[in-house]
Amino acid sequence: MKFIFQRFLFLALLFGFFTASAQHKNNNERPKLVVGIVVDQMRWDYLYKYYDRYGNDGFKRLLTEGFSVENTQIPYIPTYTAVGHTSIYTGSVPAIHGISGNNFYMRNTQMSMYCTQDDNAYGVGLDPDNKDGKMSPKNNLATTITDELKLATDFKSKVYGISLKDRGGILPAGHFADAAYWMVDGNWVTSTFYMNELPKYIEDFNKADHTAKYLNQGWKPLYAMKTYSPHVPDDNPYEGRYFDGGNITFPIDLKEAADKKGRDVIKATPYGNTVTLELSKLILEKEHLGNNPHHVPDFLAISLSSTDYIGHLFAINSAKIEDTYLRLDNDLADFFKFLDNKVGKGNYTVFLSADHGAAHNPQFIVDEKGNGGFNIKKDMQKDLNKLLETEFGYEKIIYAISNNQVHLDHKLIENKKLDTEKIKNLIISNLKKRDAVAFVADMEKISSTTMPDWLKTMTANGYNYKRSGDIQIIFEPQWIDLYKDPTGTTHGAWNPYDSHIPLVFMGWGIKPGNTNAPAYMTDIAPTLAALLHIQAPNGNIGKPIIQMLE
Ligand SMILES: [Zn+2]
Repeated sequence: MKFIFQRFLFLALLFGFFTASAQHKNNNERPKLVVGIVVDQMRWDYLYKYYDRYGNDGFKRLLTEGFSVENTQIPYIPTYTAVGHTSIYTGSVPAIHGISGNNFYMRNTQMSMYCTQDDNAYGVGLDPDNKDGKMSPKNNLATTITDELKLATDFKSKVYGISLKDRGGILPAGHFADAAYWMVDGNWVTSTFYMNELPKYIEDFNKADHTAKYLNQGWKPLYAMKTYSPHVPDDNPYEGRYFDGGNITFPIDLKEAADKKGRDVIKATPYGNTVTLELSKLILEKEHLGNNPHHVPDFLAISLSSTDYIGHLFAINSAKIEDTYLRLDNDLADFFKFLDNKVGKGNYTVFLSADHGAAHNPQFIVDEKGNGGFNIKKDMQKDLNKLLETEFGYEKIIYAISNNQVHLDHKLIENKKLDTEKIKNLIISNLKKRDAVAFVADMEKISSTTMPDWLKTMTANGYNYKRSGDIQIIFEPQWIDLYKDPTGTTHGAWNPYDSHIPLVFMGWGIKPGNTNAPAYMTDIAPTLAALLHIQAPNGNIGKPIIQMLE
């Protein structure tokens, strides 16, 4: 009896072993298509703030069919668009990939560089010498997950990047992309880095002039005004305007705004996202993405920028932001349905995340009795230079304060044999006394600066010796730089409002569910690498999020 039982146990274990190993078979199955959707300036809480108003097929479909990584943080400062897109797609940080801001100063020349500036490229679909066309991903020093897909499939996979913003299309699509498209003056363009003329279907899309069609419609809210949740009314003192004196109470006349400011006004309306997704569908169809003749995965990298333009202009507690996300929810539902039809439900993997979040308007917080404020950057640089001149006898020892980093004129310091340490110490001790400033770190001595470890890590991750400043300024919570007037808002800081982003995966290879375990923006690329059975990008420092992988 005992023997029979033992044999039964043995067989049961053996059977269990075989079924378990059958579930974990190693093969080279891959999704037919990966679609990356970066929603520019989407705070994580927007998934839930408007949850009850979303339909079932957009954000809610992602949350119910997909896997949501609820605590995804950006692990560096500054939290800007170019940096975010590059870090998502490289699994890396500015210290390594070199995209240390939307604009950054190059240490060797002390000249400003735009993230996707390439003086050897020329615009296609616009005046070749227009600087808005002279773009490529050259400044990104690392490979992207899209590059690795190209390398892994001997360049058979097709890769496209699309965004209203040049940087939102170019940086995700990587160095080996078939194309990246962005919008200049209401038209879709590219550069000679990718091709010498636009495909006919893009030209036709431009000729159809969707931009004019949308601008002519104006912006009315999707639902009755009384259904919108803002604590402040439509057209409130925290909102900016499309042009000086322009009306921003719904319904908004966009034709008038475009007459005054140009056709790119569409970017700061929800229609900018709609038209980006329309072009994405066209490219998917015309390039047969997800139906590769070599049976390898294709990759469509989309960035939706209107959310960022609208957030900057009207701040985040606005009926305009709410309406923008409700419209985006409809657009996403429509786009997912399109993918189901063209590529097949379950054949594609989609992820949705953000390049950064955004702060509340500081004046709004102060008016509600909270703390916060505006820093006047120009005065800060002027005051510091005056102080340094008095002490060291030379003008403009600081040549720029950019991305909250102080850049010292090292040519001057070397020529005049000035003491760099003394200069830095004077700047640091002065900055620390300011209301706006919480911490100041000498970039070469981050680890010995007295501040929380996580801020040291974020600062070091964001510090690229060749492309960052000498001193990092970290503001008190809810302080931002003042630009034109105290309306709207911005981002760039370490704080959760800027660094806590949504991350949801859905489709092929993804188990539905969620986790509150901490994860990082840099984990997206290695997770995709694991799904696709390809190498992680060459600057990757992230880890795959294993909870969601089937
Ligand atoms: Zn922005």
